[in-house]
Amino acid sequence: MPRLAPTARIDLHAHSTHSDGTEPPAEVVRQASRAGLDVVGLTDHDAVSGWAEADRAGHEHGVAVVPGVEMSCSAAGSSVHLLGYFVNPDDTSLRSELERTRRSRDGRLRRMVDTLAAAGFPVSWEEVLAQASAGASLGRPHVADVLVAHGRYPDRDAAFAEVLHSSSRFHVAHYAPHPRRAVELVLEAGGAAVLAHPFASARGHTVPVELVEELAAAGLTGLEVDHRDHGPADRDRAAALAQRLGLVRTGSSDYHGAGKPNRLGEHTTSAEVLTRLLDRTGGQLLGASL
Ligand code: AMP
Ligand code: FE
Ligand code: FE
Ligand code: ZN
Repeated sequence: MPRLAPTARIDLHAHSTHSDGTEPPAEVVRQASRAGLDVVGLTDHDAVSGWAEADRAGHEHGVAVVPGVEMSCSAAGSSVHLLGYFVNPDDTSLRSELERTRRSRDGRLRRMVDTLAAAGFPVSWEEVLAQASAGASLGRPHVADVLVAHGRYPDRDAAFAEVLHSSSRFHVAHYAPHPRRAVELVLEAGGAAVLAHPFASARGHTVPVELVEELAAAGLTGLEVDHRDHGPADRDRAAALAQRLGLVRTGSSDYHGAGKPNRLGEHTTSAEVLTRLLDRTGGQLLGASL
């Protein structure tokens, strides 16, 4: 088991072009090094395909990489994000669930693009595909990037405030498992599950306390408490809930490159908590050894 220095700087949540981040995994890792991080978690939405590149870049830049995935989930019609760390990427059940979600993402995004194009918005499916790595998890941010490139909106945020909003007439939902099922899949694949930004009300991601309790009973390991979408009161609530349910507290940037203002290392996770995640899973860090 690697020994993590108590002072290690650890950011457990970042996205690359394998989902809706704007930088390839190697660049995310290089930026992590520039930001003074010792450890970065690569947690693309519904995809683990970026790990190999992040591993190589970690060796090159002296950064350890936590292999992760942010699973899109749905509970009572609301979107919930579950982080899975140190999962076995070859686990058949997890793989097929991630594939199912990615396939559904493609179909729903195509429908959104078609209706937007029919309504006169400057976007085509080919342009959307050109925004991400081949086989990436496609999402609304890729459509936003095309609209921004055509000058229709100044940035992703502005597109999300209008046509890409979940309440917009253009919005189409995609398949996603219930978060309890996702926790089970992460555990079956040998990983540890952490609920992402549970009280991020501004993003429509507020998770009912009863659901967190249900997930804790199913084997959830932690709550992402320190995150920019949590205000001070949200953080206090999340920290108190984590303590009551015996869950670890993580913190992270949710970096998306140029796609969001979030900066690597703006929130971090303690070495003690990462050690708990490693011990619980028997997982291995990728990239540089610490
Ligand atoms: P989707 O996965 O296609 O439903 O789109 C949701 C993704 O869009 C999330 O992963 C967020 O990272 C991203 N997102 C949501 N709201 C915004 C926003 N206002 N600005 C930039 N990205 C956003
Ligand atoms: Fe995202
Ligand atoms: Fe998320
Ligand atoms: Zn995220």
